[in-house]
Amino acid sequence: MALPREGNGRAPTAIRAVVRGEVQDVGFRAAAVHRARELGVMGWVRNGDDGTVGVHAEGPAPAVEEFAAFLRDGPPLARVCEVTVDRVAVEGHEQFAIRGVSAGAFVVQEHSARAHHFDLRLEVEGVMRSWALPKGPSLDPAVKRLAVQVADHATTHNTFEGSLGEGGVIVWDRGAYEQGGRVAWPAALTRGHAVFVLHGEKLHGGFALQRTRPGAPAQWLLIKRRDEYARPGSDIVAEHPHSVLSGRTLEEILE
Ligand code: MN
Repeated sequence: MALPREGNGRAPTAIRAVVRGEVQDVGFRAAAVHRARELGVMGWVRNGDDGTVGVHAEGPAPAVEEFAAFLRDGPPLARVCEVTVDRVAVEGHEQFAIRGVSAGAFVVQEHSARAHHFDLRLEVEGVMRSWALPKGPSLDPAVKRLAVQVADHATTHNTFEGSLGEGGVIVWDRGAYEQGGRVAWPAALTRGHAVFVLHGEKLHGGFALQRTRPGAPAQWLLIKRRDEYARPGSDIVAEHPHSVLSGRTLEEILE
């Protein structure tokens, strides 16, 4: 199917495509990234749970049309049976990313110090970027939780649990996370709006960190995105107080 050209060819256009056939485990995503970069197309590619490859592509109409032609052929090892293409709104992507893949570790440590708080840490370029959450995370999208940026930590601290100074630490949740959003990381953090997906034992689904006040320390809000893992009205911190490492609560550590 040829996509109709629009205007002078420089107006951005966007498509969502689903590619069916033998398209996973054949280098499709890497080839899509390569072709998108050649063409100046932005968006993302991800493997679907049903064996398909899903794509969002946007850019100048001729480039998006070229990219759609690539999807119909696929990389050499792929056998494409069908590509369905829908026109969608341009979203303003500034990268072409592989979605649905781990970007590294995340951990949430409950920490009793001068003030009780939770530390959210996301692995970015080999270090754990960190935010202190006085009230901890929430799975309720209506709840915006203050997140004060704190010093980066080493990945070796991710499994630390026990007494620390006058207080203590437990590993409240941990797992892997995916980077999301329209802007590549770590630029997204530098610009103050970062979207990510957590795959923890307690925390699941999309979250956004939105910087509300720059400076030292920078203040952010952590907000659950509305998805299948959102739980309006819930209080995950109260419901699940135990360490995912030892099963102990912070109070038990402090005894
Ligand atoms: Mn802390």
